[in-house]
Amino acid sequence: MADQTADNKTAENKVSFKDTLNLPHTDFPIRANPQVDDPAMVARWEQEQLFSTSFDCNAGAQKYILHDGPPYANGHIHVGHAYGKILRDIVSKSQRMLGKHVPVTPGWDCHGLPIEFKVTQETPGMSPEQIKKASRIYAQKWIDIQRQEFKNLGVLMDWDRPYITMSSDYEASILQAFGMFVAGGYIERKNKTVPWCFSCQTVLALAEIEYQERKDPSTYVLFPLESKFFDHHPVLAHQPINFLVWTTTPWTLPLNRAVLIRPGARYVVLELLGKYIITAKQLADKVSALAEAEPKIIAEFSSDELVSFGAQAQHPFVDGLTVPVILDQSVLLEDGTACVHSAPGCGPEDYEVGVRNNLEIYSPLTPDGKYSADIAPRELEGMSITDGQIWVIKKLAEKDRLFFKTSIRHPYPHCWRCHNGLMFRATKQWFCDLERGDLRSKVLQAIDTIVTIPEKSSNSLKAVVEGRLEWCLSRQRVWGVPIPALLCIGCDHTYISQEFVESVASKVALQGIEYWDNVTVQELVPAGFKCPRCSGTEFKKETDILDVWFESGISHYAVLCKNKELGFPADLYLEGKDQHRGWFQSSLLTALVIEGVAPMKTIMTHGFTVDEKGRKMSKSVGNVVSPADMTKQLGTDGLRLWAVSIDCSGDAVISDVLIKNVAEVFRKIRNTSRFLLSNLYDFDIEKDAVSLKDMRLIDQYALQRLYEINEEIVQNYEDIDVTSIFHKLADYCATDLSSFYLDIVKDRLYVEKADGNARRSAQTACWYILDTLTKLTAPILSFTAEQVSDNYQKNKIKSIHLQQFAALNSPWKLIAAQEPTFDFARLANKGLRTVADRTQATLDEIQYVTQKHEQWELIKAMRSALLKAIEALREKGIIKHSLEVRMTIHLDDAQQQTLRSFFADLALHGQSIEEFFKEFLIVSQVVVVPSAAGLQPSESAGLAVLVEKAEGDKCPRCWQWEVTQDKDKLCARCQAIVR
Ligand SMILES: [Zn+2]
Ligand SMILES: [Zn+2]
Ligand SMILES: [Zn+2]
Repeated sequence: MADQTADNKTAENKVSFKDTLNLPHTDFPIRANPQVDDPAMVARWEQEQLFSTSFDCNAGAQKYILHDGPPYANGHIHVGHAYGKILRDIVSKSQRMLGKHVPVTPGWDCHGLPIEFKVTQETPGMSPEQIKKASRIYAQKWIDIQRQEFKNLGVLMDWDRPYITMSSDYEASILQAFGMFVAGGYIERKNKTVPWCFSCQTVLALAEIEYQERKDPSTYVLFPLESKFFDHHPVLAHQPINFLVWTTTPWTLPLNRAVLIRPGARYVVLELLGKYIITAKQLADKVSALAEAEPKIIAEFSSDELVSFGAQAQHPFVDGLTVPVILDQSVLLEDGTACVHSAPGCGPEDYEVGVRNNLEIYSPLTPDGKYSADIAPRELEGMSITDGQIWVIKKLAEKDRLFFKTSIRHPYPHCWRCHNGLMFRATKQWFCDLERGDLRSKVLQAIDTIVTIPEKSSNSLKAVVEGRLEWCLSRQRVWGVPIPALLCIGCDHTYISQEFVESVASKVALQGIEYWDNVTVQELVPAGFKCPRCSGTEFKKETDILDVWFESGISHYAVLCKNKELGFPADLYLEGKDQHRGWFQSSLLTALVIEGVAPMKTIMTHGFTVDEKGRKMSKSVGNVVSPADMTKQLGTDGLRLWAVSIDCSGDAVISDVLIKNVAEVFRKIRNTSRFLLSNLYDFDIEKDAVSLKDMRLIDQYALQRLYEINEEIVQNYEDIDVTSIFHKLADYCATDLSSFYLDIVKDRLYVEKADGNARRSAQTACWYILDTLTKLTAPILSFTAEQVSDNYQKNKIKSIHLQQFAALNSPWKLIAAQEPTFDFARLANKGLRTVADRTQATLDEIQYVTQKHEQWELIKAMRSALLKAIEALREKGIIKHSLEVRMTIHLDDAQQQTLRSFFADLALHGQSIEEFFKEFLIVSQVVVVPSAAGLQPSESAGLAVLVEKAEGDKCPRCWQWEVTQDKDKLCARCQAIVR
């Protein structure tokens, strides 16, 4: 905006009228100083106890429960954490400003492998008790650090009373929840195939596996087909036909439980080396090449036909064992023979095939890598699997089932500690049965009752639930909640019951999970208790712990249900899209068991933070941006504004272009607020406000626009459509205010009599705009809005974040209804804010408002046409400023007809059409003529115009041109004010 003060000093006139102008001033600084101001604001909120008062704000009103998901307490927050937390904060602040009671309890996830890893790396060789102690200290340290980092982002939550999954209360709640699963019959202990190091004798996590090159036998094995499928074939009828199976781990063949072939594929029977063998048609050449022979195809068939015929295969050397032939998508046609050996007890993919097809998870293997007593053939018992490789190859040769053998070098999984090759072995694990009581389908039905934002994200959520094979609840680790069970030493029978789990939970509530380490088996076993299976009397404690997703998953029970100040179900869960697989899913699964309904009404999902090329942020790529990096560039409020600029259905891009755009929008909003503030220094809304009916038409129009934008944005807050808010705020400040309304009323604010109606009318509109805008931006620009409201709210008694959005009436509707009070601002801050003016409007009122809209559309279209005409004159160098213009205009009959009531309104407000257009176009002279003769047509239909240089002299006070006899060349308006 042009600043009249500078030029006034150098005006050629001797007399300065600067002191007679109402020049803008405010203490609100031009530039934000986030490095100093942001920490100061956090400190002030701390002192005002805003974190806890916001928790209680609007108590008694309708509750809105936003359940904050717990981040993991290890390391500084990254920009993804900041993004999610800021969105949650924006939702809770806006819901609070809608008049609801919004208590938000933050949380932290504390148990689990990453922390256990970290502390055992720092201090190797610790006992389980020492690991737990160190883990507690480690997690607490990061909770404290992250808490401050979140506070620094302006996030208002009840930081002094968070939920922490390692608190003894929460640990006990986890066990109580688990007890309900036990009572419902969901929990079972059964075999699962896991990576196992037989030299270290331990299960390995995926992160502990490394791949190394290794030489193995490449073995082609014959599995005789058992089927009458070829009984009518001219050549093959009653001939021995074999599946050709390829393996590099012949020791696993005794554990074979199926032959897999690919669905929808063509297979052939080849005659090769005097044998009939089955392979995929696509691989016939490759397989024939093994025998250095031309492919000789005897028969061709589809895999589906063979399987639907009920084909089975004979085991190559275990007498009397036949295994099913199964169609499975995991079989590939690129390599091997496309007939695949499957041993569910010693391979991770085989395990999944086994679970899907109900195969036996057969794993007769000891922890030190030998065949156990359950093995068949029995002669393998006690033999190491390394020796088993040779034994099996010899056996195959002896039975004439070894078709071909060579060797292969390939990457093979090894143990990260001892670097020996791994085996896979089934061990006893604890599972939640997803079929029990139709749990999975109940979850799917519950998802249909949840509102998802974006809408299509419910499909992703359903897909992960549908695709979930099982939920393995146990981990062989230390830092976590124990599965409280007793195992019979004699027969490995499991003893667990809800009562038993509850009794352990009650002790854990007092002593933490350490109780389970300290209690003796004697204390736990009821007197006279015998194993129901073998009548044994010796037991040991289970040492497995629970999956951490179970821990955070039950937060609806531990936090929402147990805390009277909160409530169940939550209105909103809001997290990144990775939580479809994680927290959303574990929360739904556990809630359907514990409470029987979904724990949330709405799920909002946002994308991952990525760089401008769409790459996920990672240390190895070197594209990680920290929240601190962003606040350095943008300030905290700028970072928060960036968060709402992102469309949550895509990924959250951080790029220079985007940051520049956000910084520009932030600057525009801030400057708009500052301009408004600087013109309200002598205005008191209680004493100086002009009533609506006495305001100038353009001021009424500004309030009508304000009413509309307020309704729209408040609705966007209700719908959690934050991106629309970003664009509307940016557009409103730039288009409606900066280059339109505020540009037009600047003259009145600076020049007119300080307390005259003309200026007070504009100030009244400006005050409402500032108040409404500040409140609309407060959930996002939380620090700036607090600073701005410090400035304009006289005797401010509470934080902007404890106030409510402005509640406005439609000015045009009030005028149409001839409201006696013309009460623009509805009764705000009294109970729940009623959104939008939803009372029934009369037909007359609707017609009036519609007509007003049409008239203003026309007037604004005329304005842009006329401004273009002025611009043409400026380009020719005839004028520099629009105030040097005299404008002659003519409106044809149709235009006059449309604006008849508008012009009548102007007259009622004591303004001539010329005066209105003078201000509206920011020119010095306007003449409306009855004929278009001598005028040019404009871009606006029915409007003709002549633009000339204004007559007379430039008024040294207001810069308008006028023919004047005044000694100082003051215009008539300024004479009346000054003299
Ligand atoms: Zn090892
Ligand atoms: Zn027993
Ligand atoms: Zn003047």
